[in-house]
Amino acid sequence: MPQLVFATNNKNKIAEIKAQLGEQYVFLSLKDIGCHEEIPETNPTLAGNARQKARHVKENYGHDCFSEDTGLEVDALNGAPGVITAHYAGPERSAEANNAKILSELSGKNDRSARFRTFLCLIIDGEEHLFEGRCEGRINEAVRDGTDGFGYDPIFIPDDGDGRTFAEMTGAEKRSMSHRARAMTKLQNFLRDK
Ligand code: IMP
Repeated sequence: MPQLVFATNNKNKIAEIKAQLGEQYVFLSLKDIGCHEEIPETNPTLAGNARQKARHVKENYGHDCFSEDTGLEVDALNGAPGVITAHYAGPERSAEANNAKILSELSGKNDRSARFRTFLCLIIDGEEHLFEGRCEGRINEAVRDGTDGFGYDPIFIPDDGDGRTFAEMTGAEKRSMSHRARAMTKLQNFLRDK
């Protein structure tokens, strides 16, 4: 079975993608290929960061791979946190602090609309391909946690759901409508038709 490196060590992302892709490829993480460094993400856009990470792995480790970058865009905050979603509340990248900051900034605001956007960059057979997935929704008034969520899941309610936050859903429910799953479906179809 062909191998493809997923250029992340984020175990939540790896679990979501493995659950979706099943048997088509053997997916290796950065750890699996001996990459333990922090890959630079210095681009001003999500798509640019996805490209930067994939190119870094291809150029330094020689593997065909795909990378991803995800951002949350809140309309009443002019699209913030966007490209700085991971460290919105500070360099420690705390999900609790990030969620608290968004809730405090939206306090008293009626417009709570937001979206997640994921960009995947695939490098395979010497070519580069970009895939985008989006999930429209809104920011809840408070944290509503469940068992499986991570990051901003406890404050994000997708429009395609039933009013629960992503964190309150099962992994399969989240995958049926998430930004990452939608981008992955495009990548999956591309690999299938290749
Ligand atoms: P990055 O793509 O690893 O830079 O992650 C960006 C930020 O978005 C991090 O704070 C993640 O925790 C968060 N994030 C990424 N994907 C999701 C998701 O599916 N749900 C909630 N938060 C996410």
